[in-house]
Amino acid sequence: MGLFIRGKTACELCGKPLRHRDAVVSFPAFLPGSHPLSRFSDATFHRSCFEAAPEHNEVERLHARHRQVWDARPRDLKTVAEMDAWARNAFQTVDRITHYARRALAAEMRNAMKKRRLP
Ligand SMILES: [Zn+2]
Repeated sequence: MGLFIRGKTACELCGKPLRHRDAVVSFPAFLPGSHPLSRFSDATFHRSCFEAAPEHNEVERLHARHRQVWDARPRDLKTVAEMDAWARNAFQTVDRITHYARRALAAEMRNAMKKRRLP
């Protein structure tokens, strides 16, 4: 997620700052830069701006799909290579979630593994 500072970060849709009292919606980086909806990836919005955007249902659908695949990952993978192989296969079936998202997930998995190894 890009750095989000209330009062400083601007809403990606209207360009106005996200203030303390504002209801906000944010998404992690889950779409590639080339995706037509990439401006919704790794970004934060006023809830009202997001809900008024005509694409919001499609963005929510893609994000839910992305989480679904990630949450269903096997918990017994032992090596980074096994995880990479899983991610490659798993995300082949997710429409429009591409190479970039798989790489982001592989990085997330590697970080999770490093944490698990700590005493
Ligand atoms: Zn806004």
